[in-house]
Amino acid sequence: MIEQQIKAAIRDIPDFPKPGIVFKDITTILKDHALCESIVNAFIERLGNKQIDAVAGIESRGFLFGLTLANQLGVPFVPIRKAGKLPYSVKQKKYDLEYGSAVIEMHTDAFEPGAHILLHDDLLATGGTVMAASELIHDMGGHVCGFTFIVELGFLGGREKIVPVSDEVIALAV
Ligand code: 5GP
Repeated sequence: MIEQQIKAAIRDIPDFPKPGIVFKDITTILKDHALCESIVNAFIERLGNKQIDAVAGIESRGFLFGLTLANQLGVPFVPIRKAGKLPYSVKQKKYDLEYGSAVIEMHTDAFEPGAHILLHDDLLATGGTVMAASELIHDMGGHVCGFTFIVELGFLGGREKIVPVSDEVIALAV
């Protein structure tokens, strides 16, 4: 039900950001407040009574539902940002992209060592971004207790990459 609603709401943009890529535009979901509420509720229902000490969201679309999810769970939200955006002291992780590399950062006081962190992003593609984020959390002494995504592009194999980190991989639309 929620899967069909999400699929119906998402807009495919051919050749964005470059030729040959069909980009899943989730901004169309944001226009539907009832669907936004259902998405957060679906995550909460599927997470059950799992221990979650904080939700980390990946810039920028991971902030949209990550913060609401954290608020609903009653736990802190941790922003993971691209290099140079966070104002306090940071720890960073470099990771490879199809062409070149990127760096993500987190504040050094984002959570206490041993904290159970739920990692959220809007979409799982190859898994490269979320793996880098998970390694950063690990380097800072945190434990990734699960992943949540609104959309998973199953044909890109990201799930196989992240399952060894946590078998709690929740994707609402595959
Ligand atoms: P990955 O690192 O898994 O290959 O790519 C996932 C990251 O790229 C996520 O942060 C996600 O926001 C972004 N991304 C890649 N492709 C798409 C897409 O088609 N739609 C959206 N909304 N985000 C995408």
